[in-house]
Amino acid sequence: MAKKKAAPKKKSTAVQASLPVFRYYRDPFGTGAFEPCDDPCDCCGRARGYRYQGFLYAEEEIETICPWCVADGSAARKFDGIFVDDEGLSRCRPRAIAELTKRTPEFFAFQGAKWLVHCGEPAVYLTPAGYAELKRYGEETLQSVKDNLPIDMSEKQKQGFLRSLRRDGSCVAHVFECLHCQKVIAYGECD
Ligand SMILES: [Zn+2]
Ligand SMILES: [Zn+2]
Repeated sequence: MAKKKAAPKKKSTAVQASLPVFRYYRDPFGTGAFEPCDDPCDCCGRARGYRYQGFLYAEEEIETICPWCVADGSAARKFDGIFVDDEGLSRCRPRAIAELTKRTPEFFAFQGAKWLVHCGEPAVYLTPAGYAELKRYGEETLQSVKDNLPIDMSEKQKQGFLRSLRRDGSCVAHVFECLHCQKVIAYGECD
């Protein structure tokens, strides 16, 4: 048997072609759910060029989880935790809840990510947005922000809240697309 040369350490560019895909999160690499990182993953032990930025709600505090160990559920299994809170998902099928809580990265939200449900299934998280971006999605999307307010507001207050939303501000909207009817819906929250 020929003597093997030590394999050169692969850089992140080598794996970028096959980044994992998430059913309920369209662009986690573009919206900051994963950040470039050279540390080895606490779950699989491999340095794969990225780490999960959000929380794994578990007993242990975990520093580094790679996107692949989020996607295949191994990190949630190994550390007995969840990435996404299951609040508001009770009417969804158990398989969908498991996929969202154990195999989907949380998006950044001041009050913890809350997944909107449409047509009986969690919708796909697209992006944070401000009033300017929401307007481009149209009236239906603007209305959904008003409908998803946690407290009772007058129509005037709702309009004021909508106008205060900024993509990088202290009040922001989170935009989703329904997997079934493609309706774009959103909710707003503040720091
Ligand atoms: Zn890993
Ligand atoms: Zn729908």
